[in-house]
This record gives sequence, C-alpha cells and structure tokens, in this order.
Amino acid sequence: MKKSVLAISIAMMGMLGACATMEGGSGEDIGRATMPANDGWAAAEGAVTGGSAAKPENDFTVTTRKELFDAVAKAGSAPSIIRIKGTINLSSDDSGRELTEKDYAVAPYNFDEYMKTYAPAKWNQKLEKGRPDRSLDGPQEEARLASVKKQRAQVTLKLASNTTLVGVGSDAKLVKGNVWIGPEAENVIIRNIAFEDAFDYFPGWDPGDSFKIDKSYPGCQDAYVDAGTGPQKCPGGRWNSEYDSISVNGGKRVWIDHNSFNDGNRPDKLFPPVYPFPHNEVTQKVQHHDGMIDVTNGANYVTVSYNVFKDHDKAMLIGGSDSSKLDPNKLKVTIHNNFFDNVGQRAPRVRFGQVHVYNNYFVGDAAGNDDPKLSAYENHLAVIKAKGDNNIFRQALGAGKDSAIYSEGNLFEIKNGGQAQAVGNMGGKVFFDAGSVVNGQPLKLDVSKPLSADVGWKPTLYGNNAVRPAAEVPAHVKAHAGPGKL
Ligand code: CA
Ligand code: CA
Repeated sequence: MKKSVLAISIAMMGMLGACATMEGGSGEDIGRATMPANDGWAAAEGAVTGGSAAKPENDFTVTTRKELFDAVAKAGSAPSIIRIKGTINLSSDDSGRELTEKDYAVAPYNFDEYMKTYAPAKWNQKLEKGRPDRSLDGPQEEARLASVKKQRAQVTLKLASNTTLVGVGSDAKLVKGNVWIGPEAENVIIRNIAFEDAFDYFPGWDPGDSFKIDKSYPGCQDAYVDAGTGPQKCPGGRWNSEYDSISVNGGKRVWIDHNSFNDGNRPDKLFPPVYPFPHNEVTQKVQHHDGMIDVTNGANYVTVSYNVFKDHDKAMLIGGSDSSKLDPNKLKVTIHNNFFDNVGQRAPRVRFGQVHVYNNYFVGDAAGNDDPKLSAYENHLAVIKAKGDNNIFRQALGAGKDSAIYSEGNLFEIKNGGQAQAVGNMGGKVFFDAGSVVNGQPLKLDVSKPLSADVGWKPTLYGNNAVRPAAEVPAHVKAHAGPGKL
C-alpha cells in the first residue's frame, strides 16, 4: 500500500471512531447504547447489550443510594438501565446521612489499639516458617473483621446480568463504595460515571506481606536476641484494604467505558506509615484503597476503554493469586484508549489472562523507586529522606504467572524513570509489544528476567478502532477519555 493511501485509510478509521464516541453529543440516548461490535474481549461471545432492551418499568433514574439499591433489586436480571444522576454516596443510610468509621466499628475495635496489638516490635519476635504469624488473632482483629462485614454490606452494590449502569450528563458520581460483578452476572455495561474514593475504614495489617530477613538492616536476623536484634528488626508488613471501585469478580461480558477513577479528597498521602523504622517504608502507608478495576476469580471477557485512572497507587489487578483454580484460561481482557495519569502500579498487573493493551496513555513519576545499586536498607533511608508524596510509578504492565500480554501503540511518559517502569516481569514468561513508545524511544524490555515475545495468541477484536501510532495517543485520549465526553 502506498504511503498516501495508508494515511487516508487511517484518517478514515479515525473518523469512524470519532463518530462512534459522539452519539451522546448528537442527542442519542447513551443508556440505550450497546457496545460496538467486536470491541475487544467483551465481545468474544457475541454482542454486549447490557440493559439496552429494558422495558420502561426497568429504566430507572436514581439520585440516592436507596433508589439505586431498590432499582437493582427490582430489575433482577431482566434488562435494566440504571441512570445515576448527580452524586450518590454508597456509604450512606436510607435517609441520606453519610456513614463513617464510627457507624461501622464493632467494639472493641479501635485503630490505636489494633495497631499496638500487632506492632512488629512485639508481634514479629517469633517467626513461623520464616515469617511472622499472618493469621492475626485476638479481640482487635475479630472486631476489625466484624466491622469490615458491616461496611461491606452497606457499600457494595452487586449488579445482576443485563444491566447498564450509566451516568446522566457530565457530572454523575458514584463515591465511597464498590460495584461488584459476581459470577452470576454477565452482559453488563458501565459508562460515563466518575468513581471516587472506594474507602475502607478498616484496613488490615499483614505482618508477613513482603517480609524479608534482609541482613542489610541492622539487627535483622531470624532468631530473637533482644529488642535490638531479631526478626522484629527486619523489613516487611503491609496494610491492605478491601474495596475496588469496580470488582469484576467472576462475572463476564463486561464493558467499562468512559468512566473516571480517583481517590477523591482522601488520597493515600493523608495516611502515612504508623510504625517506626524499619516498618515505615512508603509502601507501609495505612492503605485505605484497593484497586480501581480488579478482574479476578474466573472473570472473563472484559473490555475497558476510554477511562481515566488518576492519582492512585494500584490501578488494575487482573488475577488475584498465583494459586487460583478459577483463573487459568479466563481473565481475557482488552484495555484500550485509557489514560493512566499518576498511578503507581498495576496498569494492569496480569496473571493467567490473555490481555490486549493498546493505545493507552501512561504518565507518571518514578522518583522514589529503589536504586538497584543500593541495599534495601539504604534505599529505605533514602526514600524516607525524600518524603515524596507522588504515587511512585513502579510498573505499568506487570507480566505475572502464565500471563500473555499483547501490547500495541501505548505511549509512556515517565519522569525520573523509563523502560524499567513500562513493563515489569512479576513471574511471567512472555510479553509482546509492537509500536509502543517510552519517553520518546521504542519500548525495549528492561526486566529482571527475560520475557519471550511468543505470547501464543493474536488479538482479532478491534471493533471500530484502528491502532493509532503511539505519538497520536496523548491528544486522542485526552480529548475523548473519561465521563462527560459522550
Ligand atoms: Ca495466629
Ligand atoms: Ca481488589
């Protein structure tokens, strides 16, 4: 094909894409829209129609949590359109009053008590199989779990099959909660909504998460001697949280399009580490947020397009565990034309799935990452001294166990970093890229262990989208991604 003909056909395909995204602006009802044919893995078993065929009695406009939950319950799996108008706070009661920690806390839970009870200086003195005891016992942990149960029952919205959840106009928000698409749910569309701050009031401390007997730390060794010498002087332990803004937890045929995700007015920097050295790394902040969109537990056929992920640490986890029995041969996900703006990691991190990632725009700052020339201890000291509050850009694409990522035409702008942050090998064996660009240079793997380009599959489901040259991605994504753009 001559160069000029190619340019014209690319331009025409671009126009087709533009028309498809303009339907709302032209007065069409986006609540009745279906996913364009073959637009990514969500289409693998046929058209994704969500609730587009809803009868009038299953076409709801809701402005409160109660109306939202009532609508979901009433429609069941009959096709239903649920239109979010204005801001709905999922952590509120039927009268609209916001519910916070004190409303969910079950006695005797108290954060300070909890923190003291499991403080590494004490709890970590004894190891089991090389780690501190990870199954916490005692009244504080029991009360925390009971509190979590109360919060979860309030803030989790479980969607049924054949549902379209859509924002009205350009200012619809769903805040302080979790949308859940479980194994019983399929054919779901989520569009044009700003998701904010899926906040967990009761993060749990896992003393064994990332625990290492690392002798670069003074006093760190496996046997306890005294307060200054023993496993309690070794690094590790993390705070973990429950809620993703959207959990595709076993569901399938899901289209998540033109939404935004952020932590609202409670960014992680407000919740720094609480334990003293050596349990005060940046990663030991009291984490009240989890993923933005996590796809786990045998979920399958998901397309994530034209969303904005902003100012958050862990964006997208695809596959929750190396030992999952449900995930092998599932977790097929397409991720295109999204804007990952100042996220830290997991954009996405993948286990098992065949994941197609194209024409996404990644912007971040890698300052604060470990310097491979320094010991863990020296890095720890350096990071504390730097006191950065950005979400340290660690890795965008994470190739984990049995993952097969097919990447095309992505554009990375990584301050204070580069190739090592675009792709990470997290236990994977393969990774393919064509045409991606990192800080102006072609993507070139800089990973701990090599990844073969033979991923064993090739995407076919591009819908109306032509893969753009990476250089054109920022302008296109900034103009079209996020809510209020339909
Ligand atoms: Ca125990
Ligand atoms: Ca999660």
